[in-house]
Amino acid sequence: TSDLTPIGRFAPSPTGPLHFGSLVAASASYLDARSKEGKWLVRMEDVDKSREQAGAADAILQALEIFGFEWDGEILWQSQRTEIYQAVLDQLKQTGLVYPCGCTRREIVASARLGLDGLIYPGFCREGLKNGKQARAWRLQVNHQPVSFRDQIQGDICHDLAANVGDFVLKRADGFFAYQLAVVVDDAEQGVTDVVRGADLLDSTTRQIFLQQQLGFHTPRYAHITVATDAAGLKLSKQNRAPALALSNVNQQLIKAFEFLGLEGEQFDIQMPLNELWQTAISLWRIDAIKAARQDVC
Ligand code: GLU
Repeated sequence: TSDLTPIGRFAPSPTGPLHFGSLVAASASYLDARSKEGKWLVRMEDVDKSREQAGAADAILQALEIFGFEWDGEILWQSQRTEIYQAVLDQLKQTGLVYPCGCTRREIVASARLGLDGLIYPGFCREGLKNGKQARAWRLQVNHQPVSFRDQIQGDICHDLAANVGDFVLKRADGFFAYQLAVVVDDAEQGVTDVVRGADLLDSTTRQIFLQQQLGFHTPRYAHITVATDAAGLKLSKQNRAPALALSNVNQQLIKAFEFLGLEGEQFDIQMPLNELWQTAISLWRIDAIKAARQDVC
């Protein structure tokens, strides 16, 4: 597949404005794609309307423009793609690996173990809905076959999904499609070859690869950048109420993001025109300048 044009993407969720951690993630995927003369796409992950903040999507796009990001093609809005996600879910139902789950959160909490990323679903509805339960969510059945990949930054990662994650949700009880399904369908449909994103999504990757395998999709290259932390070591995320990026001092903030990514600070000048600053960073980009945070092996 080396003849393919590399395609990267930035896929923000409009749950709040961009913060410094998102600038680092967006810059990393942009530099990676542009240094390979690839395309760079923006996808608005507004599938979960319950977590959306009014005005956040526009604010994110405006911030990207002000910081000099130039995306290729149209923005893909996940909220417009529910029919496609439903078709993929229906296709998976044919394989027998997807089943309806009637458990409430309370029932799951009462008997589940904590896994890699939340509770491990104990599998109550795997053999069918019992005791008159109604379908609430749809889950994908996983197994003990190790799922592994080589992350370009974090190294070899391997998870036993049955032991560490459990059967995971593809369509939620509130009717929204799960992030894991939407991201896999969209990365495949958009021909994404290079996923460069924050290491907070590292644990999701083996689920996404498993789903790609069930659907016969190609697995992209992955690189998970260590997420920016604040002075107290707390992850900079929207949930932690990380401060929104100021739309002033653009060069200064970009240089800080580039330095965070291991690029040489002396090469950048705060007075440079924005496109020259980007060109300099593109020419300096090396994915192995970024340090690994952790490693999981099977
Ligand atoms: N929408 C996700 C987020 O904002 C990112 C998804 C991805 O990059 O795969 O955390």
